[in-house]
Amino acid sequence: MPVDTSSASSSKNRGDSRRKPARWQNAEVLNIIQEAPDAITLRLRLEEAAAFLPGQYYNVRLLVPGRSGPVQRAYSVGSSPVPDTSIIDLGVREVPGGLVSPRLVGDLAAGDWVEVRGPVGRFTWTTDDGGPVLLVGAGSGVVPLMSMIRYAVAAHLDVPMRLVCSSSNFDYAFYHRDLADLAERFSWLDVVHTFTRDPFDPRASHHRRIDQIMIAEVVVDQFPGRTYICGPPTMVEDVQKWLTELGVDPATVLVEKYD
Ligand SMILES: Cc1cc2nc3c(=O)[nH]c(=O)nc-3n(C[C@H](O)[C@H](O)[C@H](O)COP(=O)(O)OP(=O)(O)OC[C@H]3O[C@@H](n4cnc5c(N)ncnc54)[C@H](O)[C@@H]3O)c2cc1C
Repeated sequence: MPVDTSSASSSKNRGDSRRKPARWQNAEVLNIIQEAPDAITLRLRLEEAAAFLPGQYYNVRLLVPGRSGPVQRAYSVGSSPVPDTSIIDLGVREVPGGLVSPRLVGDLAAGDWVEVRGPVGRFTWTTDDGGPVLLVGAGSGVVPLMSMIRYAVAAHLDVPMRLVCSSSNFDYAFYHRDLADLAERFSWLDVVHTFTRDPFDPRASHHRRIDQIMIAEVVVDQFPGRTYICGPPTMVEDVQKWLTELGVDPATVLVEKYD
């Protein structure tokens, strides 16, 4: 079946300031998929579909007891814009004590409605950006990287992609089942897990935080044409610095920091 890639065929509109800002709209919760003990995929059907690029995010706003107005937070899209942009999967990890994420993870059910606005962001990859692509994510930072991988699958691309994914252990790794399945099916995809709190699990190549040696190994093995780093600000800044030291052109590196 031919796939309509028009909604994701160009990164030319990355940051196009002439576009009208999206307005808040209602989205129906279609499904909640448990990705890890503390993380879900929130599958939403938008009232108004909007073209988005792999890597972008939506803002979600909720009424929170004790707050006079709604509270909003950003959540990346983990699904592919191809073939359908009217249904989006947001990946949400619960932050203990947080105002919004515990409500999204624990309180919603299919048939509920939430308010969203988007898509937003310049952290995007499409065919036009080329490869090989190096994706580096920690924790929920893997969500927008998964959108890029799923887009490559849906659009039948075979650009080499390597994901370095840091999680506390296998069960807490976002999308661990899907990633294992996709890496098995597609030779252009390589997934390198590192587990920070499980020193023995053989499903990980490494058992420590992402460090300079790990990044040097993947860059030497396959020099990236484009790199995307997403997660906690310190990890993102460290990896950015190590890549520059390894000779990667900073202009080819895009980052998204989850503050
Ligand atoms: C571009 C972007 C994309 C993102 N995408 C994702 C994504 O795909 N998935 C995802 O899970 N997250 C994502 N995030 C992070 C997300 O937006 C939220 O920041 C996260 O979910 C926490 O929000 P919260 O309301 O639950 O917690 P917050 O209410 O913001 O609290 C965060 C932490 O601060 C503590 N805290 C709050 N107030 C105080 C206080 N007064 N004193 C002391 N401590 C306090 C809380 O206990 C909690 O531990 C993204 C962020 C950005 C910027």
